[in-house]
Amino acid sequence: MLEEIYQEVVNKDPDQPEFHQAVREVLESLEPVLDKHPEYRRYKIVERVVEPDRVLMFRVPWTTDDGEIQVNRGFRVEFNNAIGPYKGGLRFHPSVNLGILKFLGFEQVFKNALTGLPIGGGKGGSDFDPKGKSDHEVMRFCQSFMSELFRHIGPNTDIPAGDIGVGGREIGYLFGMYKKLVNEWAGVLTGKGLSYGGSLVRPEATGYGSVYFAQEMLKTRNETLEGKTCLVSGSGNVAQFTTEKLLDLGGKVVTLSDSSGFIYDEEGIDRDKLAFVMDLKNIQRGRIKEYVEKYSSAQYTEWNAFDKPTDYDPKWDVKADCAFPSATQNEINEKDAQNLVNNGVYVVSEGANMPTVPAGVEVFLQEKILYGPGKAANAGGVATSGLEMAQNAAFSSWTRKEVDSRLHEIMVNIHAMAADAAEQYGQPGNYVLGANAAGFRKVAEAIIAQGVV
Ligand code: NDP
Repeated sequence: MLEEIYQEVVNKDPDQPEFHQAVREVLESLEPVLDKHPEYRRYKIVERVVEPDRVLMFRVPWTTDDGEIQVNRGFRVEFNNAIGPYKGGLRFHPSVNLGILKFLGFEQVFKNALTGLPIGGGKGGSDFDPKGKSDHEVMRFCQSFMSELFRHIGPNTDIPAGDIGVGGREIGYLFGMYKKLVNEWAGVLTGKGLSYGGSLVRPEATGYGSVYFAQEMLKTRNETLEGKTCLVSGSGNVAQFTTEKLLDLGGKVVTLSDSSGFIYDEEGIDRDKLAFVMDLKNIQRGRIKEYVEKYSSAQYTEWNAFDKPTDYDPKWDVKADCAFPSATQNEINEKDAQNLVNNGVYVVSEGANMPTVPAGVEVFLQEKILYGPGKAANAGGVATSGLEMAQNAAFSSWTRKEVDSRLHEIMVNIHAMAADAAEQYGQPGNYVLGANAAGFRKVAEAIIAQGVV
């Protein structure tokens, strides 16, 4: 039955492979859940959750500094609001298309359910590439993007946030335009600056959360992160704060990457080196290879993610204990997963969304390593966005300690929920099954309660 539903998803939109992959991964976990809850089949919950509530697609015209007109495509996928208003990031990257945003929106529905907060799932973005653009060009693009999006979002309707290519700068420009068009200050975006309604620890939250999740997984074996060698991919928001939290907890991070290649620093990336990376990436908007010009302890290996020169990615072929993929989807293939295991990695906590292909996930499950799928491990970002919404709604702001301790508590709960569900459905330690089952059940109950709408 689930195979039939999957085939229908593929037949309806054959050109959306990432969405098919995300749907298949969830459906493969659901058989035992549906067997225990026949009402989910009767109410056609699976058929209903694979179809987004609404898909918006629009033209985004803007002008370069030279006055040349450019046209990009904007999207918002409002996937499911059974348990709360749509919530999920905006991605600005040339690879963005409807299939990728549907995969991200679909994942977001279950991830948000796992946080325990009343938030539904959505995702949006554009094929605009902020790389190499001036601040003014980025601003004009964001203003044009918002001049359409503002009609569809609102603090109780749909609350976007950042994702790849959308950080504090972009959120600021988007928020400014929303406020001007609607003539109302409303907490309609999260990831805002601290001076205008942002929450402390929101920038750190996804990376910190993914490390807290790894910490919880290690606890099941009476271990900690102290002294562990860690691989981190990416060098953006999630990678930077994953590295920071690993340093806090005594870990040693030896790699970072971008889409052109990766650096390996066998002495470890300490706080000074991390500060250099943050300045390089967030202010100078440079490339990770510049790291080796400053630090001779590191080597740089060029490996172009868009024109893959080998059938395995050398950044996963490094001796370590833990891996924190924090760049993008499908960055670990089957061979990479095997290389990780062969190199001693037994903890994988996914800061990125769906960074491991299904055959790679299978390797991790068969080898019985501690594998935290993105849906659970990176939920700290959206959870803290939920905390930003709560602070905005109450016209208050919480201390750093308070937000961080709530984030920590949420990650501990997500781990416990996923672990319990895995156990309940007969596969202890399988966090993929656990996260999918726990997230799905919460959404399913809400859909049933609300009737056929
Ligand atoms: P950023 O834009 O800050 O950083 C992305 C990093 O990944 C950059 O180093 C970038 O390199 C690299 N990257 C992007 N695309 C590719 C590619 N195709 N191949 C190789 N490297 C690539 O994004 P975030 O850190 O915010 O997001 C990273 C991941 O975490 C994404 O999967 C996102 O969906 C996920 N995530 C983010 C959350 C958040 O709160 N920000 C919340 C939950 C999940 P380059 O500069 O060369 O493009």
